[in-house]
Amino acid sequence: MFGTVTDKTHDESRQGEAFVLFGSENNSFQKKFYIESYGCQMNFADSEVVASILMDNGFGATQVVEQADLVLLNTCSIREKAELTVRKRLTEFRKLKKSNPGMLIGVLGCMAERLKSKFIEEEKLVDLVVGPDAYRSLPGLIDDAEAGQKGVNVLLSRDETYGDISPIRLNSNGVTAFVSIMRGCNNMCSFCVVPFTRGRERSRNTNSIIRECKDLFENGYREVTLLGQNVDSYLTRSLSTNGEGEPVTFAKLLEMVAQISPLLRVRFSTSHPKDITDDVLFTMAKYDNICKYIHLPVQSGSTRILQMMNRTYTREWYLNKVNSIRNILPGCGLSTDVISGFCSETDEDHKDTLSLMECCQYDLAYMFFYSERPGTLAARRYEDDVPEVIKKKRLQEVVQLHRTQSLISMQKEVGKILKVLIEGNSKKSDLHWSGRSDNNKVVVFAKTNNELEKGEYADVLITSCTAGTLIGKLIK
Ligand code: SAM
Ligand code: SF4
Repeated sequence: MFGTVTDKTHDESRQGEAFVLFGSENNSFQKKFYIESYGCQMNFADSEVVASILMDNGFGATQVVEQADLVLLNTCSIREKAELTVRKRLTEFRKLKKSNPGMLIGVLGCMAERLKSKFIEEEKLVDLVVGPDAYRSLPGLIDDAEAGQKGVNVLLSRDETYGDISPIRLNSNGVTAFVSIMRGCNNMCSFCVVPFTRGRERSRNTNSIIRECKDLFENGYREVTLLGQNVDSYLTRSLSTNGEGEPVTFAKLLEMVAQISPLLRVRFSTSHPKDITDDVLFTMAKYDNICKYIHLPVQSGSTRILQMMNRTYTREWYLNKVNSIRNILPGCGLSTDVISGFCSETDEDHKDTLSLMECCQYDLAYMFFYSERPGTLAARRYEDDVPEVIKKKRLQEVVQLHRTQSLISMQKEVGKILKVLIEGNSKKSDLHWSGRSDNNKVVVFAKTNNELEKGEYADVLITSCTAGTLIGKLIK
């Protein structure tokens, strides 16, 4: 698998990150939990819900695994490699558990859901296996495990959204935050394990989303990213006085969040090409603080493969969507996901993917080779018949093309003045700020003696770039 630079949906650099509490280092709890997260941003957001549940039940967070009474891995099943990484990590905990037999080890998330109690049979050191909809039962399962009884809860729910739980922000920069607006997925793309591991789609109550975003803003945050596997199918009914309730679509929700304050930037991920509406695009155009950036995974440029993937759109449909985006939102950043080597993919299909990428000129792409997942529609229906060397060769070509395109996309920004939300010091130097432009590009610029703080906006003239970073000079 090849990932590209950091993104907001599946951040390679954050895989296996140990979370630490934001804001108060010295928590005074008797027991400590340690949590590592893998996979997509939804999983990282879930770890913040888990932290909240645990802290309400007497556990404080630690970033030092040796100090923990409870070690949790929040896992991902999307590709085989993600699961192998977790298995390997578990073997590293074996020694730790030997020296501290009272330590509990729990597996959360998609892998827990996929493997269920088989996990405990296969990995004897695991004490808890808890699926994504069962986190409220963690305290009870921990009590049972402390009494020597291994705990498994992998029940999926039709209505759990954790809407009433205020996530505890972990590893936060205090400026940007993720807010889950829905859970699960009903799409059944044939390659994908998510509908099986995260269950049916459900939308979180609108009021609780708005409350969370307002709280974040009042606490100094200046950017929220609304998260869901398919945000465009968000739908709830707001409660009105006559009890009837108006439908709240994703476009409406975006508008409501944007109206919290013009100083609060709003992003979202992920959009499904079949569902993103012009209504959403017009709402984006209407509000300056809704960032002009869309993650629109295409997966393949071949209509035949898209049909086998059950994506329910054609190459032409996708290209039309991109056209609408370009017309309604000129200059909008566009990113995508591509899978190389799906079942029966020919050289022609692969060329279709390359030519579609040429048409779309993506700013960013997350590129993978196909990894068959047990139980998915594709695993049941189709043979995984593209040899691994061919998958990797095609992927390499996709990556190569994307590298050229993303550099061009960065170079286009040179000479422009961009509005940057400062997220903190640059990784390389405390003498530089790092932030993001509206269209999601990382911008680094030298601090001057005028008193800017993180969380503030700066106008920056872009003077040069690398493949991943724009370098600029403060204007005001
Ligand atoms: N819900 C989002 C969507 O529909 O685009 C993305 C969900 S998934 C967590 C992120 C990406 O992982 C997908 O867009 C796809 O490119 C990739 N992916 C999913 N299943 C895969 C598989 N079996 N093999 C390789 N890549 C896969
Ligand atoms: Fe998986 Fe498709 Fe749902 Fe995305 S939309 S999570 S790829 S089933």
